[in-house]
Amino acid sequence: MERLSDNVFIHTVITHGYSVNCAVVMGSERIFVFDTLDSPEAMAPVTELLRSEADGRRIMVINSHHHWDHVYGNAAFPQCDIVAHRLCGRLIDAQVKTHSEKIPLPPQEGVMPPNIAFGDRLTFTDDTVTVHLLHAPGHSEDSIVAWIDPLSLLLAGDTVEWPFPSFAQRDASEIYPHTLRQLNQLPVNLVVPGHGPVMGKEIIDRNLDYIEGLYDVVRTAKDSRIARADLTLPVEAFAPDGIDIDEVYKRAHQDNVEWAFDEI
Ligand SMILES: [Zn+2]
Repeated sequence: MERLSDNVFIHTVITHGYSVNCAVVMGSERIFVFDTLDSPEAMAPVTELLRSEADGRRIMVINSHHHWDHVYGNAAFPQCDIVAHRLCGRLIDAQVKTHSEKIPLPPQEGVMPPNIAFGDRLTFTDDTVTVHLLHAPGHSEDSIVAWIDPLSLLLAGDTVEWPFPSFAQRDASEIYPHTLRQLNQLPVNLVVPGHGPVMGKEIIDRNLDYIEGLYDVVRTAKDSRIARADLTLPVEAFAPDGIDIDEVYKRAHQDNVEWAFDEI
């Protein structure tokens, strides 16, 4: 568990070869747990922290979006409210019922669905922090981010990812860049991505560069009638300069290339 500031903690696990982040923000009246990782067991360090630090404060879980590696730990918080975008509950349900080899089986305890849902924006304020939950479609249609004021902190879920985001929402080639441009307007200094290290605000621009660069090149390739199977676009040409890309992200990039090809 990393302590980012007096009242913000980051808990990271490695699952399926990549890191996933959960953030804990402690306000004067409520404690917010942003994402529950891939299982209730993975959340044990967080529930332990809350046992000693909650001090009667209400614990609220936030699901950044429905993907399994962000919600499968929901059952670690049986007495708590779970907040998410209004599409999230239905998408969790569909995901649990999907028999895809890309999606691990849900935990034995099941996946508790969100019980507080919103559309565009939901704000919680107490004496020390204001948590603005904002709909941020692009990675998935139910993606939300949490802008924490006055800490200048953005909990981004998979809307922002390092070294680059992954595409999982249909018809989002314009929506995703639009969302990132809007996030760029927020007065934040630090960004906690769903995957990858805590970074400065420049991570938003790097993600935008990747998405727009990739769509541009795929569009040109498709115009010249290259077949999908013949499209090889080296990840180094799109990822941020000087970054070592591991096998997991090389595959993620190839998935993005194919996704973009099908979208155009
Ligand atoms: Zn995701």
